[in-house]
Amino acid sequence: MTNHELFQRARQLMPGGVNSPVRAFKSVGGEPFFTARADGAYLWDVEGKRYIDYVGSWGPMIAGHNHPAVREAVERAVRDGLSFGTPCPAEVTMAETIARLVPSMEMVRMVNSGTEATMSAIRLARGATGRSRIVKFEGCYHGHGDSFLVKAGSGALTFGVPTSPGVPKQNADLTLTLPYNDLDAARTLFAEHGQDIAALIIEPVAGNMNCILPREGYLAGLRTLCDEHGALLIFDEVMTGFRVALGGAQAHYGVKPDLTTFGKVIGGGMPVGAYGGRRDLMEQVAPAGPIYQAGTLSGNPVAMAAGLAMLGLVQAPGFHDALAARTRLLCDGLQAVADGASVPFSTNSVGGMFGLFFTGEKVETFAQATAADTARFNRFFHGMLERGIYLAPSAFEAGFMSSAHSDDDIAATLEAARQVMTTLTPD
Ligand code: PMP
Repeated sequence: MTNHELFQRARQLMPGGVNSPVRAFKSVGGEPFFTARADGAYLWDVEGKRYIDYVGSWGPMIAGHNHPAVREAVERAVRDGLSFGTPCPAEVTMAETIARLVPSMEMVRMVNSGTEATMSAIRLARGATGRSRIVKFEGCYHGHGDSFLVKAGSGALTFGVPTSPGVPKQNADLTLTLPYNDLDAARTLFAEHGQDIAALIIEPVAGNMNCILPREGYLAGLRTLCDEHGALLIFDEVMTGFRVALGGAQAHYGVKPDLTTFGKVIGGGMPVGAYGGRRDLMEQVAPAGPIYQAGTLSGNPVAMAAGLAMLGLVQAPGFHDALAARTRLLCDGLQAVADGASVPFSTNSVGGMFGLFFTGEKVETFAQATAADTARFNRFFHGMLERGIYLAPSAFEAGFMSSAHSDDDIAATLEAARQVMTTLTPD
């Protein structure tokens, strides 16, 4: 069966042929490949072609695909049963591990996806403050909950559907949006609506409008603003958690949120999310308190085993320093290649996350990210894909490095980029 044949079959029965939009390659054009297996830094498609993978299942595979420690932990867990519907010991170890690695997580609730984590966190924020409005940022993505599909990033941005049909206007009206990295705009908004705002939710490093780092003092400024107005600060660390640093972006930038959401790395590739934070807030979650949130498969023993094994790997001494150095090596290398080919280009990176922009400017805002040359990105993407390098199939997604990417993989990526960049000028 070829990639094309599978896609034809998939399109008959699945919207767009996929179970999550960006996978369909709609923004870059062409058809997706279907992965048969993955190992280390590589994916192999059903036709046997190998790709060096800089998507890493969109973040979870920080130690590379199919890592033996994670696989074996899952194999061991599976022998004892797939789901119990009662508490299990691995959940307790997971909560203790998270609380130890991320000190703001005084209490935690496991869920099954990043979307669930963010939806639950804002319910808690609303329940605890008695306020109904939330603030999010243009180009930030927090999953597909109704409250978040307002000026959202990721697939919603790629497809130009900032507000999805099906989200009631009354619901969207409760979501206020701000430009990322503009503290004055946030001050103005809070001056007007501060008393109605339950929470401000932010990706502390934005990874769904490409990759944009917070300006110096920006996160701390938001912290102060929330405190002044009695609003909660929620860091959505679904992408940045255990990736930007062991303690997440909150450790890297030294700003403590009231609540945090996790996903991706925390599940080691299994469907897992988590939210948590201040004890006085988390004690209001059912059954300790009245704010309801539940999950049949939450804290699933197999998922906990995978997540714990992955969290074990990222605690290796120097893990994140090495990951960050490798990410910089790739970004600096790509910059040199682009400069050599006179292609306007810039990069952002922090820890194991990076962004590539076809613009000569350093990108710090959503407006700059959307002004970059996406047509050129699409040509670059396909040129790289042909040469066996898989970048995220959209100009508005972050790239993910893993500890399995070797010097040879980086060198092969730069050599492919050298060939492709020369084809990108003139337009
Ligand atoms: N928050 C952020 C920052 C994300 O990047 C994502 C997914 N890319 C989500 C939430 C939603 O997570 P999930 O896809 O697991 O629902």
